[in-house]
Amino acid sequence: MTRSFKFEIESKDPNSLARAAAITTGHGRIPTPIFMPVGTRGTVKAIAPDDLMNIGAKIVLSNTYHLMLRPGEELVSRLGGLHKFMGWPGPILTDSGGFQVFSLSKLRKMTEEGVTFQSPYDGSRTFFSPERSIEVQTALGVDIMMCLDECTGYPATRAEAEKSMELTHKWAARCHAAWLQNDTDQVLFGISQGSFYPDLRRRSAEAISELDFPGQAVGGLALGEPLEDRLAALEAAREGISENKPMYLMGVGTPIDLIEGIKRGADMFDCVLPTRNARNGQMFTRLGRLVIKNARFREDERPPDEKCGCYTCRTFSRAYLRHLFQNEEPLAMRLASLHNLHYYLDLVTGAREALLNGAFSGYYTEFYENLRQGREEGFSKA
Ligand SMILES: [Zn+2]
Repeated sequence: MTRSFKFEIESKDPNSLARAAAITTGHGRIPTPIFMPVGTRGTVKAIAPDDLMNIGAKIVLSNTYHLMLRPGEELVSRLGGLHKFMGWPGPILTDSGGFQVFSLSKLRKMTEEGVTFQSPYDGSRTFFSPERSIEVQTALGVDIMMCLDECTGYPATRAEAEKSMELTHKWAARCHAAWLQNDTDQVLFGISQGSFYPDLRRRSAEAISELDFPGQAVGGLALGEPLEDRLAALEAAREGISENKPMYLMGVGTPIDLIEGIKRGADMFDCVLPTRNARNGQMFTRLGRLVIKNARFREDERPPDEKCGCYTCRTFSRAYLRHLFQNEEPLAMRLASLHNLHYYLDLVTGAREALLNGAFSGYYTEFYENLRQGREEGFSKA
């Protein structure tokens, strides 16, 4: 069948690799650069889909591993697919499940064929492979599926990085073959690895490019490495990826990671940071991070960010939010998550508008100028 998927570049920054573009999927158009809120179990924690729409979310990410184990992809499929099940009509991307299989499960056996692991939910043994990952993601009915990859930890030796990269390439070819057998509107993105060895990063991105996926991701970053190593890996990978394909920087990161990623040509981002930190009372703002439980906000009548247009900032004071967190009121999590996601979406939307107006360098400078000003006013580093 002819797939709905399209990627069109709208504007390029003359001084960097940053660009504004648009991705078309069967469930809608995604203006880029874009941040994807993470809905691990088919829900962005503490946030309903109408909130997501109100703050301008265009695509959400969900986790294959968790949905496969509970409630199971067959149940989701029988009930009409993930969009209907979670009440989100827009585009959905799922990760391959690999990261969680390797990080959350008790591994039983790992071969080139696949992985046998023990479910942390009920202890049952499950076999997971590139084909199985595509099968689950197909059944969920998502718009963008991801290849199963293997990611080394940080730091990794060159030999370890090379071995896991080679396995990732073999698995990418198998995922690609499994995807081509499906007659659906879904697309599959490849993922390159290579740890923090720039030559491996480039080689991996080139190897994945040969399979000509509709989009390409850079995986295995934000594992605790310094920012400069992360950016060097991204730059090396970028050289091996066609500029006519969307580039997705996986699991990254802080507001600084986003602006630096955009500058280096990344189009898509996801991270649990804005939602996870919100639930701990940390709010990201233009001026830096605000630890809302701090005693100095006890009588602070100002909103978390005086220039933010979100519902939380339009309606509530720092003092009230601090009060909610101190009493562990569920509303605290919702209001802080709403603000943090709004800020992340605002950051990428602002970058996009600047790119369309030929003003990205100014936007980039202003981003750091705001953080500098914030540090003077006692905000924590972004
Ligand atoms: Zn706000």
